[in-house]
Amino acid sequence: MRSIPLLAVDATNVFDEIATAKRQPRRGRMRASRAKVLTAYQGYEDAAPEVGELDEALLTDLQKEAIRHAFTVETEPMTVLRGDLLKRNSVARCPFCGINESSTLDHYLPKEQYPEFAVFPNNLVPCCAVCNTRKRDGILGEGTNVRMFLHPCYDVIPDMAFLTVRTRIEEDALILSYRLIRPPGMALRTFQHLRSHFNKLDLADRYRRMGFEHLGALYPALRRAYGQGEDAERVAEKLIEGAEDFEEVSGPNYWLAKLYRALASNNDFCDGGFEVARAQAQP
Ligand SMILES: [Zn+2]
Repeated sequence: MRSIPLLAVDATNVFDEIATAKRQPRRGRMRASRAKVLTAYQGYEDAAPEVGELDEALLTDLQKEAIRHAFTVETEPMTVLRGDLLKRNSVARCPFCGINESSTLDHYLPKEQYPEFAVFPNNLVPCCAVCNTRKRDGILGEGTNVRMFLHPCYDVIPDMAFLTVRTRIEEDALILSYRLIRPPGMALRTFQHLRSHFNKLDLADRYRRMGFEHLGALYPALRRAYGQGEDAERVAEKLIEGAEDFEEVSGPNYWLAKLYRALASNNDFCDGGFEVARAQAQP
């Protein structure tokens, strides 16, 4: 969960270039839809991030098909746009989860329902394949007007701490459980939005599993800190240093920062319990 910058590109030019590159009859259908599409773009920017209840543009079925086709069957300008969106260092890591590499473009407003935004750069969010698949076609939560997912280009992620992880060692197993808590002062609606994003993308389980994977790689460093003298305090210091580094770069709700902090204050873990995590990281 993090913010990424919008791509600095003229959306009107992009639309025109793609339309020009399409063959007839789709070129003509895109051009015929142009005025309505550009009006919709303006509506999107005016409403963002609250784009969940935008009116659908009144396009014919053939026009809708042509714009979706412009995304799915790429012309050169669409390929350039895809590259420009994905190849920025600032979006290399998926903004929805913060775990994986961004390798796909998600339509924040799905192109099935909103074909007018199928090639709108501000609606195309670079993300990982796992998040893209999980996100599917949802916009609003059932029976609510709260959007199910954060829009990484427009939503402001609160900098107050809302992610927590509990760690405990039970019967030779490390148990990690991530969840969200509503900090004092956070509006209920904001919290509902964060919680929906967290739950729909299954982040608790994905952070847990990636956490074990990460701890496997961290093991040699923890083992070294513990040393012959079995210095649990040094292990905790090492984890806190790591947490501070993560927080400085990725903010207080970064899942690894939370994990390091939680483990630093888990005395069982620091006092040799990290051996347990090592075993769990292995197949
Ligand atoms: Zn992701």
